[in-house]
Amino acid sequence: MTDQFQHTAYICVGSNIGDKLLNCQKGIAGLTGNGQCVLEQSPFYMTEPVDYEDQDWFINAVIKIGTALDPFQLLDLLKSVEKNAGRCSREKIRFGPRMLDLDIILYDNTVMNTDRLTIPHPRMHERRFVLQPLCDIDFSIIHPVFRREMQYLLNHLTPGEQKVVQYR
Ligand code: ATP
Ligand code: CA
Ligand code: CA
Repeated sequence: MTDQFQHTAYICVGSNIGDKLLNCQKGIAGLTGNGQCVLEQSPFYMTEPVDYEDQDWFINAVIKIGTALDPFQLLDLLKSVEKNAGRCSREKIRFGPRMLDLDIILYDNTVMNTDRLTIPHPRMHERRFVLQPLCDIDFSIIHPVFRREMQYLLNHLTPGEQKVVQYR
């Protein structure tokens, strides 16, 4: 990686309203430039909603980025890209439907827990829609808190729960 992008982060991209694939693609495009580059992208998956089930399936992917931004600057960028893609404050239900959701899954080996930002993402290890595409990029990443490979965490989810189907 060039010195320009000193940090590596993994971002989960998701949408379950409107043209879901286009919304995700807009999100990924919005993360190109602005102090970073997209290094790798997983396949897109159709995924069953997990925390709030009375909603449409999502499209999800994970991307690996090189970035010059610190974690808070990156969060601000994600929020502005979400907004540009049409996410709005009417989306009131926690874990509910959204045009575009961009979450920081990992940022280097950073471990942090603040009001605004928790890294690694606090629910990533229990979500197949995160772990499956993350493992497609690199199954050998070690979770910086649990000290387990991502493949191990994926293998230990309850079989048959949280359906994910590769989309393209
Ligand atoms: P979940 O976090 O369970 O996936 P969500 O994505 O639906 O839920 P949001 O409403 O998008 O939740 O975000 C709520 C807040 O979570 C954000 O405003 C942000 O400040 C905070 N947050 C904490 N940690 C992270 C992280 N790693 N990535 C993105 N947002 C985070
Ligand atoms: Ca989320
Ligand atoms: Ca989010």
